[in-house]
Amino acid sequence: MKQIILITLCAIIAVSAFVFGFTYTQVNQERLNLSADLQYRTRFLADSLKESVEPSYSRISTTSLQRIVDKFADRERVAGIAMFNNRGVSLATSKGTPKRVTDNPDFVFVALDKNEPTGLFEVIDGAPRYLFVSPLYDNERIAGAIVVVQNTSYIDTAVSDIWKRNIVRLLVQILVFSAAIVFLVRFTIYKIMKRFADSVKSARMSRTSHMSIGGGPFFLRPLASEITKMNMSLAQARFAASEEARMRLEKLDTPWTAERLKEFIKGNLKDRQIFVVSNREPYIHHLERNVVSYSVPASGMVTALEPIMEACGGMWLAHGSGDGDKKTADADGKLRVPPDEPQYTLKRLFLTPKEIKGYYVGFSNEALWPLCLLAHTRPLFRKEDWVEYHRVNGKFADALLSEIREVSQPIILVQDFHLALLPQLVKERRPDAQIGLFWHIPWPSPEHFSICPYRKEIIQGMLGADIIGFHTQQYCNNFLDTVGKEIEARIDLEQFSVTRDEHHTFIKPFPVSIAFAAEAGLEGEVSPDRVLLEKFGVHTSFVGLGVDRLDYTKGLLEKFKGIEFFFAKYPSYKGAFTFLQIAPLSREEVAKYREYGEQVTKEVERINESFGTNDWKPIVLHKKHYSHEVLNSLYRLASVCMVTSLHDGMNLVAKEFPAARADEQGVLILSNFAGASKDLKGALMVNPYSAEETCEAISEALNMSKTEQRRRMKQMRSAVREYNIYRWSAEFIKAIISLG
Ligand code: UDP
Repeated sequence: MKQIILITLCAIIAVSAFVFGFTYTQVNQERLNLSADLQYRTRFLADSLKESVEPSYSRISTTSLQRIVDKFADRERVAGIAMFNNRGVSLATSKGTPKRVTDNPDFVFVALDKNEPTGLFEVIDGAPRYLFVSPLYDNERIAGAIVVVQNTSYIDTAVSDIWKRNIVRLLVQILVFSAAIVFLVRFTIYKIMKRFADSVKSARMSRTSHMSIGGGPFFLRPLASEITKMNMSLAQARFAASEEARMRLEKLDTPWTAERLKEFIKGNLKDRQIFVVSNREPYIHHLERNVVSYSVPASGMVTALEPIMEACGGMWLAHGSGDGDKKTADADGKLRVPPDEPQYTLKRLFLTPKEIKGYYVGFSNEALWPLCLLAHTRPLFRKEDWVEYHRVNGKFADALLSEIREVSQPIILVQDFHLALLPQLVKERRPDAQIGLFWHIPWPSPEHFSICPYRKEIIQGMLGADIIGFHTQQYCNNFLDTVGKEIEARIDLEQFSVTRDEHHTFIKPFPVSIAFAAEAGLEGEVSPDRVLLEKFGVHTSFVGLGVDRLDYTKGLLEKFKGIEFFFAKYPSYKGAFTFLQIAPLSREEVAKYREYGEQVTKEVERINESFGTNDWKPIVLHKKHYSHEVLNSLYRLASVCMVTSLHDGMNLVAKEFPAARADEQGVLILSNFAGASKDLKGALMVNPYSAEETCEAISEALNMSKTEQRRRMKQMRSAVREYNIYRWSAEFIKAIISLG
């Protein structure tokens, strides 16, 4: 609409400029014509009068002169006639002649001096007048002068009439033009452009209809023809890529891609439907001043599961947490996503503040999180949180059951520790559903888990699944040990399964990863600009990088202790090495996280005070969330990346760093207690609780030869490439459908 208004405004300005220019010329011309006509008529009148009096001007009595003057003055537009003798004395004056003419006849003297007729336009008593003076002769001697005064206001009236007429015409033209433009753009050009856009979109989304878009006005035909050709080429390229992906399925050593995963799903699932259930939704809608926008949460889960959803057009059920979520969904909480090219259904479940507080903030983040992640933070088990957790799991189960009512043998992928009870709640009512539960955080030892008052219900809830996936074999072992300790069940250590009431649950490791598939990048990769580091306040040639949510399990305080030790032991690095820590705020509704944030800031200030100088800070802390684009540039600029989690299910940053290093340089320092340490053998492993180990690892990293860096980086890159996120998804689905 804005554009239409802009086009219309431009047209109005152009038309107005033209009309004003034209009218200006027209009125000038009209004024000239009318003035010339007036001058002609005045001269004619003066000449006629002259003829009547001239032969005997000096002898005619003033009474006769007055009569003649009165007779001639009785004409339209004549404002007065006066006769003067050759000394400028008025002899006869018609009624109404302005006083200016008789009292101050300077112009008469001018005409007498010049001895020729003279005319001038003047405003007399506020009215426009034309004064014409013609000398009178008696025997070729100047005997006096005639003055004719004409009223010229009709010229102004004529000119202003022209302006008025043309402005009215202009307004009518503007109205007609605007209506025509709006009509043309909205109903003709917009319609055609929309058809073009729909056709390109269909081609992009692999629908074959609307490939050809012939027709339309002649000036758009070349464009239409090019778009048709492009659509055809796109369809052919897509077909070729799909064929290639299908053929690649036979060979296991080629990397997994989103395309290959889609082919795998299409080829293996036939008509079966997939339902994903998670707390976090793949698209969050935001509302700001009535304008809706959306974001995709920074989570590997969306990257992993979206190709599956796109391939089978299933449904994703999640908590609608955005303030624009209700507005963008229908009455059932459903909408088609991705918003730009809808391929599957997202069903949002809306929770009350009480439910969020108990289920999410309380039981998930303050009980289960510190229970499973061993960071020596005491879990808080509140009865009311457990009640809400139970209730919300039931709410998710009811919503899911109503969606799968008509679907036979649905495949259900349950994500993470927020929904531990869901598998059992669904399995009880739909035994034919095949349920996979992926637990994205570690599973602790049985002794550690035994402090949870609700441990039996949680384990029984999880065992409703047919497959339970963890990141590492160690977590699988811990889980089986916990089951053995807590409930009555048959455990098969060969199959890695648990049997209860004739139902089998298989426990398997699936190390989650990132979307790294490209072989490309070694050559042609543009090295990022160090200006970015300057913007972050980093000016040294050696750069350390940390990217962690502000979470006590990420070991930020321990990492900083190691850096402090490093500067104390290797002072030559003062002013030469800076550690840049990116730490977006997280779970601020939990008091423990707020306290931790303050501790981290204070620790950075303390270390910077002890070692820093006026133009150098040892640690630069940014408590802000950055896009993957920025993070990738930082990964490529860092000499060393440090992941020192006290405990971590996997840690994707540890995988993103080598994936970004197409130059095969840079060193990763990695905590022994992150799941990623099982896959990334090329990292320098540390116990994050030992500041000495961390300090030595930094020194080793900064002194490592390029060849050694390359050797280690190659190993890590190939590990991430081989087992990327697409393979993770495929392996998980394969495991579920292989159960029959
Ligand atoms: N991340 C991001 N922007 C930031 C910080 C982190 O996009 O400012 C991303 C990061 O790239 C990674 C994810 O958030 O993909 C964090 O995953 P990880 O497994 O390391 O830790 P989690 O936060 O899931 O415990």
